[in-house]
Amino acid sequence: METVTTKNALRTALERARSDGDSIGLVPTMGAFHDGHISLMRAARERCDFVVVSLFVNPTQFNDAADLDSYPIDHERDSALAETAGVDLLFIPSREEIYPTDFSTTVSVTGVSKTLCGHSRGPQHFQGVATVVTKLFNLVQPDLAFFGQKDAQQVAVIKRVVRDLDFEIEIVVCPTVREPDGLALSSRNTHLTPVERERATALNRALTAASEIARGGEGSAAALKQVALDELAESEIEPEYVELVSPETMQPVEAVEGSALLAIAAHVGQPRLIDNAVITTNGSQ
Ligand code: AMP
Repeated sequence: METVTTKNALRTALERARSDGDSIGLVPTMGAFHDGHISLMRAARERCDFVVVSLFVNPTQFNDAADLDSYPIDHERDSALAETAGVDLLFIPSREEIYPTDFSTTVSVTGVSKTLCGHSRGPQHFQGVATVVTKLFNLVQPDLAFFGQKDAQQVAVIKRVVRDLDFEIEIVVCPTVREPDGLALSSRNTHLTPVERERATALNRALTAASEIARGGEGSAAALKQVALDELAESEIEPEYVELVSPETMQPVEAVEGSALLAIAAHVGQPRLIDNAVITTNGSQ
């Protein structure tokens, strides 16, 4: 595995791969790798000849300076994990490399980025995500790019950017990797105290409870949300949101028609956690 820190070195390494006729896969990350990240790298390894992972804690998508400052960084550990996962090229740029002085262009996605986390974290969150991912797409020009279903709204935003800005990139969405007790893996989980870690399992229980009543034929948003809220309340979690939305538009729906996404965001102690499940009235994914 080669590690590069500049755009020039990245381009040079990619030119070599491209001249060999390799298909290129990109996995954008903010580091602090866990098995969720590794699953994306392995999926990229399976589908592409040349796998690029970017590791950049993107300041423009943070609405909370403390959250940004406390973001775990361990490049040595991450490099070793990426190498084991079969990554070919690790791109770890500095902030200045990505955002030169007087950086003034942003990619702003309306509609799909305004609900859920776009509402609770503010408009700059998905604007930051869309801008940095657009830059990475331009720099790497991958054939495929890999994202996790755990960040379902991010996936919807990026798919919209790809469609609207005519990127010829296939977006591959990988399933959420969970702890044995159901908690979705997240770099934020390391900030949970043991008691909070236990309470945090309520997010997945809430999604599972809603999926179960959906399997029994209940499709109304009100009923599904109430079941999820009850489960969260048992662990004394007051969510930021529990919302049933269209998986493509991220707009709230009154009932499951075909399939819908039940999405949750909640602070469990300090850490802010998100999770979601695709709900269908004859079962959920
Ligand atoms: P992050 O480093 O948090 O920006 O995440 C980088 C990528 O990993 C994103 O596409 C996330 O959706 C994905 N990801 C994060 N957690 C998980 C998980 N538990 N399972 C699968 N993918 C994940």
